[in-house]
Amino acid sequence: MENVLIIGSGPAGYTAALYTARANLAPLMLEGEPSKDILPGGQLMTTTEVENYPGYSDGVTGPKMMEDFKHQAERFGTRFLYETVTKIDFDARPFKVYSETQSWETKSIIVATGATAKYLGLPSEEKYMNRGVSACATCDGALPRFRNKPVVVVGGGDTAMEEALFLTNFSSRVHVIHRRDAFRASKIMADRALANPKIAPEWNSTVDEVLGDDKTGVTGVRIRNIQTDKLTDIACTGYFAAIGHKPNSDLFKGVLDMDETGYLITKPGSTYTKIEGLFAAGDVQDKIYRQAVTAAGSGCMAAIDCTRWLEAQHA
Ligand code: NDP
Repeated sequence: MENVLIIGSGPAGYTAALYTARANLAPLMLEGEPSKDILPGGQLMTTTEVENYPGYSDGVTGPKMMEDFKHQAERFGTRFLYETVTKIDFDARPFKVYSETQSWETKSIIVATGATAKYLGLPSEEKYMNRGVSACATCDGALPRFRNKPVVVVGGGDTAMEEALFLTNFSSRVHVIHRRDAFRASKIMADRALANPKIAPEWNSTVDEVLGDDKTGVTGVRIRNIQTDKLTDIACTGYFAAIGHKPNSDLFKGVLDMDETGYLITKPGSTYTKIEGLFAAGDVQDKIYRQAVTAAGSGCMAAIDCTRWLEAQHA
């Protein structure tokens, strides 16, 4: 039987693993199966340069940072499996946790399943998925189909700025389609994007349709100016959605408290959920800050809450 099972392998999960390992709990982390949407290591695996994680004073790439996090957790005895949890028996004590192929018994669980990129939900997005449509420029931006060709990025947050800037390394022009007339992104990122001669903002605009054909995939987008209702077609070979994220909380629907968008609700100032012995940390329970450093901080909180809870069970 496990003392603590950690579900998810981003900054929150790895930090929870580091702390519970150093508390001699020999944690087991289920990192998730590598797939296009969910990479072990979480969202940082699709980030280029991280410049705001304290300690990495010269910046670091997301994948390198997650490798370092994992290495540090491993050094103190964390065990890792590339497994995705499909079911949890919340009523059983110990908890019973299942993947497609295995099951585990555990006294406690730390949920650090993070969040996943969202799409607009247009049928044409779905139609050309992986044929020009992507939510990850870092993963796909260097593909031949985008080289020296125009592309579009949808969104106005830091992710959109980061994706657009990254794409300027390959593409001839990057149109950033935003539904308002000012970016939501931090000033430094927005200024950097707007100063780049390859980036063209398309203000007050939404995407009506991704254009394409069966043979070539994406060939353009049709955007609508929401003030004038005017439709404009932009020729492009790539469409990158960068409109935010959805928390990966489906496993807990109907069981844990969550807000209307699916973010798990923890007891204020802690990582306790309404189920004893089950803690939540990182982006799956944080729709406000969503930073690597805050996720790591809440992973640390979950480990401390969990360690103390386990101690109290034996007292
Ligand atoms: P955000 O929620 O910050 O931004 C989402 C953007 O998409 C907004 O501009 C929003 O428009 C737009 N949007 C949302 N839904 C729709 C829709 N249905 N149609 C059209 N547009 C839509 O998400 P991000 O992923 O950009 O960032 C999340 C967090 O991660 C933030 O805290 C950010 O600071 C952080 N981050 C930091 C980075 C860094 O520092 N290097 C890099 C990436 C992210 P509107 O503005 O009108 O709401």
